[in-house]
Amino acid sequence: MKRVPFQQEEIAVLRKAIEISEELISDYYKISTSEWKRYRYDIQSLADLQEDEIIDIAFAQIRRYVKHPQSKLRGSEVGDYFKICLQDHVIRKAVQRDCHIQMLPLAAYIVTHELIHVVRFAKFVQRFHSTKAEQEVEEARVHALTQQLLEGRKLEGMPEVLDAFRDCRAMETFRAI
Ligand SMILES: [Zn+2]
Repeated sequence: MKRVPFQQEEIAVLRKAIEISEELISDYYKISTSEWKRYRYDIQSLADLQEDEIIDIAFAQIRRYVKHPQSKLRGSEVGDYFKICLQDHVIRKAVQRDCHIQMLPLAAYIVTHELIHVVRFAKFVQRFHSTKAEQEVEEARVHALTQQLLEGRKLEGMPEVLDAFRDCRAMETFRAI
């Protein structure tokens, strides 16, 4: 699979999707702007990924790092850092494959879904290392919540995305470092 990073226009759509998703998540979990800073995560796309953060089998990979890769070791800084690695080439392929699927609602679905995972890991509602059976239950739960949050967001093309991806098994992979 050819891995072409998002171009300028796609990046603009992704930014909009992230804005929509963060707003929905902060409303749902009642997270204030200052609290968001305590959630240590980044959302990055292909151009900013390391070789081993790139995959071809899912829309994203969630990496858990014990500390932020760019931060200096500081005793006061505890807590995990999550990196949502978006796989531009996989996302683009899904849009090209089906003319009913648009980039903005699909990206909003993916980012919302991944952020729900991250918030649930960060709140310790869900363990990062869990059994296959637990992971399947969690995945169904995160899909259901993603649907619930996005159903209320009137966005062109969203009903089609909700319909197509409610049981998608290739949303992400998980890796801890
Ligand atoms: Zn998932």
